[in-house]
Amino acid sequence: MDHEILVNIMKRSSLLQWGCRTGAIKTGAIKTCKSWLMAALDVFFPSPNIFDLRPHAHALATKSHRKIVILYMTLAIDFRPPTSGTQLLFPKTRLPRKAYRFVAKRLPSLTRINLPAGAKIRVENLRAMVPYWSNLEHVRFPASVADSLGTHCKKIHTLYLFGAIGNYIASTIAENFPLLEHLRIPYCILSNDALSIMLDGHKSLITLDTRHCLCVDEVLIPRIFRNYQHCNPKTAVHRRFFKPRGKEGNHRRYLKANEWNEDEILRKAAGINKFLQCGRKNDCSECSDLY
Ligand SMILES: [Zn+2]
Repeated sequence: MDHEILVNIMKRSSLLQWGCRTGAIKTGAIKTCKSWLMAALDVFFPSPNIFDLRPHAHALATKSHRKIVILYMTLAIDFRPPTSGTQLLFPKTRLPRKAYRFVAKRLPSLTRINLPAGAKIRVENLRAMVPYWSNLEHVRFPASVADSLGTHCKKIHTLYLFGAIGNYIASTIAENFPLLEHLRIPYCILSNDALSIMLDGHKSLITLDTRHCLCVDEVLIPRIFRNYQHCNPKTAVHRRFFKPRGKEGNHRRYLKANEWNEDEILRKAAGINKFLQCGRKNDCSECSDLY
């Protein structure tokens, strides 16, 4: 039967309708013949280049269904050309711990990875994956993994970070990433010197995105790091550390952002084609009340 017709039939069947069928039905297609297997893989992961785990988030959260998704991942990696799977899109759902290293080992061609805001993933699991991905070019990760990326991934041209960037991480970014062209750090909490340190190491940036970044004293960075449990830059950092909740909030618990060293930053960023900033203290609806 024609491949496209077979894929269409499987799309209309129960293959991806989790919760109403047994695992035996979902794995039946792969046992029939190779043409059925390839059609089933195209239903699970339609693009040969994008390993998109997001549509399978609910299945990954259920033990019995998780095994089926992992099985299809294994088969896709084994049966598709080794050059496929250059992009990995994570769901917000946490995967089983062993799955991270498993996925990383089998995707050596990965060039792009995007960790979504709100993803429940431990930093140690990200660190376990990074050494397998020396071909990465475009990354969206927590800033706390920047040292690992700097050690193992020398081809990165786009670095999109979230979280807190103190002097150590800033120095790591400055001293590594020789091909870096686009540095995006919106909503990051920076030490007073972090941006200046990063710009000293990267004088040929094309893009710098610092919208809604806030500066704090270096001594506060570890505290923010320690409490940074989620990957949602807006709610986890800004609202948690800088803004009291409701009228009864204890204001002494909350931080106030420091002033930027505008002159120094503008001087060091003068050659950047696209320097994105917000109005900060004076003209930004998201930041002005945090100073
Ligand atoms: Zn802002």
